[in-house]
Amino acid sequence: MLRVGLSGGIGSGKSTVAHRLRELGAVVIDADLLAREVVATGSEGLDAVVRRFGDGVLDDDGVLNRAALGALVFSDVGARRDLEGITHPLIARRTKELLAAAPHDAVTVHDVPLLVEKAMGAAYHLVVVVGAGADLRVKRLMHSRGMTETDARSRIAAQATDEERRRAADVWLDNEGRREDLAPSVERLWHERLVPFEHNVRHGVRSRPPEALVLVPSDPGWAAAAQRLLARLRLAFGTAMVTGDHVGSTAVPGLLSKDVVDLQVGVRTLDAADDETVRARLDAAGFPRAQGVYADFDRGSEGLWPKRMHGNADPGRVTHVHVREVGSPGWRWALMFRDWMRADPAARRDYEAEKRRLASAGATTAEYAAAKEPWFDSVHPRAEAWARETGWAPADGLARADG
Ligand code: ADP
Repeated sequence: MLRVGLSGGIGSGKSTVAHRLRELGAVVIDADLLAREVVATGSEGLDAVVRRFGDGVLDDDGVLNRAALGALVFSDVGARRDLEGITHPLIARRTKELLAAAPHDAVTVHDVPLLVEKAMGAAYHLVVVVGAGADLRVKRLMHSRGMTETDARSRIAAQATDEERRRAADVWLDNEGRREDLAPSVERLWHERLVPFEHNVRHGVRSRPPEALVLVPSDPGWAAAAQRLLARLRLAFGTAMVTGDHVGSTAVPGLLSKDVVDLQVGVRTLDAADDETVRARLDAAGFPRAQGVYADFDRGSEGLWPKRMHGNADPGRVTHVHVREVGSPGWRWALMFRDWMRADPAARRDYEAEKRRLASAGATTAEYAAAKEPWFDSVHPRAEAWARETGWAPADGLARADG
């Protein structure tokens, strides 16, 4: 099963996208609909609301009067909290029931207007955000829902900004164009990403970089992608994850790189990473273990340091998750090398020259990884010298879990 979170500002076209995804075969769970369902006439939710807020929130037919309830909670934070205390657990329970009832190979799409505002992205394999500029959304809302411009603008102002939404989005579905242009991009998303992603999660398949080496210019979106993935890893690893960092070339702004996000998860011992519950949670979250035995060279002592490798089942975002013991030479080197690259333009230029040399020699992705090792060995003393001179230490010690 794949869990997709779908969001977008009011009037962006989120419901239109949800509708098309349902036609394509997704199991859509509509959070707004559930919010109404749990206070429907005769429901346990409505009983609780009346007990807390009185009969005044009902109209003559015993139906919830939303405007009356809205007026009570609008400016009273305590009242709003009470209302949410009633409805949120009921919505969560219903969502769980619907997810449990979905087929085991379903692509579920949870349509949640406030997904970004409530920072819920890590609970999903993928977050899809439908985007359209504020002026366009105002126009659509005035046209289709009869809102006044003031009303539309004040609702938009109360929600997350576009920038916040872009940071939270694994997929940004642009809906600035005509309605006819939206459908094909939803179909492409379905066939090229969601369906294969679901298959990969169910079968424990990780997506791989292309065999032929492709180096691409630095992408400003890599850092946010790494943070989204780290948040998901944190949920799956639980307390076993002591540190979490974006490492490797994509963590160095401006550096030419393969389009592969490297992440480092620090654990106290590798046993913690081999724990069956942790493994099962990683599988379910779409981070399957890579087959094979992996180790880092200890550049100081010629030793080998075992690590665990996981990938990402998302066909649209190749990711390597290096699981290393906190404080081990491999763990330290990944952080030191990244920080040296970030800090030293000359080092960056040298690394980039080496990358270009290997690429022009026609190395495949696998050969390239191996061929870089002698270069890493050769620059090891320079990196260590930089670390000594600058007093470098892994930032913030062990409690840190960011990039
Ligand atoms: P949301 O669920 O994000 O609030 P909707 O899907 O209900 O947004 O879309 C808002 C309004 O804009 C609807 O009337 C919808 O039919 C219309 N709409 C959606 N996409 C487009 C588009 N590309 N061009 C014109 N109108 C659109």
